Amino acid sequence: MEFNIALLRGDGIGPEIVDSAVEVLKKTADKFGHKFNFTPYLIGGSAIDATGECLPEETVKGCLASDSVLLGAVGGPKWDSQPPSNRPEKALLGIRAALGLFTNLRPAKLYSALKDASPLRSDIASNGFDIMIVRELTGGIYFGERGRRQGEHGEEAYDTECYSKMEIERIAKVAFETAMKRNKKVISIDKSNVLESSRLWRETVHEIGKNYPEVELSDMLVDNAAMQIVKDPAQFDVIVTSNMFGDILSDEASQITGSIGMLPSASLGSTKRGMYEPIHGSAPDIAGQNKSNPIATILSASMMLRYSFDLQKEADAIDAAVDKFLEQGFRTADLAGNTDVKPLSTTEVTEKIIELL
Ligand code: NAD
Repeated sequence: MEFNIALLRGDGIGPEIVDSAVEVLKKTADKFGHKFNFTPYLIGGSAIDATGECLPEETVKGCLASDSVLLGAVGGPKWDSQPPSNRPEKALLGIRAALGLFTNLRPAKLYSALKDASPLRSDIASNGFDIMIVRELTGGIYFGERGRRQGEHGEEAYDTECYSKMEIERIAKVAFETAMKRNKKVISIDKSNVLESSRLWRETVHEIGKNYPEVELSDMLVDNAAMQIVKDPAQFDVIVTSNMFGDILSDEASQITGSIGMLPSASLGSTKRGMYEPIHGSAPDIAGQNKSNPIATILSASMMLRYSFDLQKEADAIDAAVDKFLEQGFRTADLAGNTDVKPLSTTEVTEKIIELL
């Protein structure tokens, strides 16, 4: 099969980690007889330097014309004085909106080889966990009505959590479909003991759930969920939740896996086209030193094959190569920490993973 992939390398370590994932994708294409065509576009600080704009029109058009998008990261101190409307990070919201990406999939998995790197107590970490957080990405309080006004006690500010039934239905469907490809268990997280928007959320998720009788559905209040994620993460398979709760809980879940350099993500809409990126930023402190961990971006590329191109075998092969890499004791600088293991450079990691593939 043939697919066109738009590359948004971005800033800082973005170019080196995207290039690493591209090498792994090329090897995967060779191995399984596919053709991937890569076209780079500018985004973030590097786009500001070249064109004055953080998200040039050409980038949006190129992404819309592609089968999927692979993004590194944007931002850095050089562009911190840009006006808010043209900061590199603004480009992320712009491209997500332009591509209509209303779902954010964030897996948080503890690799058995990395159990010692997790901040969890060893008896909890030894159970392992493999959670898929399905976060609603374009609704809720981040997009609701907001403002300032004069109230009884002077100036006040307000933000509004608002969800339409349609928005809840479409994200719930993604969660159930995702669960059907995994362990068929969904936990929906809300605050329905207080919020009306959460009561509509819960009702609607259960309505959609009736179409997926094989999937076990339960609800959890968000405050309890925040505790359960660190107390017993192995109980979770798929979590579905709103934009703000998903933002907070996915950061919590990512931290207990050990390293930010390991975590991929996918943003999806109503078409097969998605945008795939590591959850970390552009790491300006280590940019250009060939020591960043490219695994989160390589795993993002694997998610692209799985979710946008339906290439399950190929995605499994990349995931297995990463597993083997870790099991065989290889480490990047962020994973090696203060141990005696000599860390591999970004290019060495890439070569090793390609060899294992
Ligand atoms: P960061 O994620 O870039 O870095 C945090 C720490 O983790 C740093 O010490 C960094 O060296 C390390 N790190 C991150 N990724 C790594 C990797 N792959 N391998 C090894 N170490 C890694 O977060 P930050 O320092 O808060 O932000 C830096 C810039 O990135 C800022 O401009 C911020 O706005 C931007 N940012 C962009 C995105 C994105 O593009 N999606 C996300 C978050 C932050």
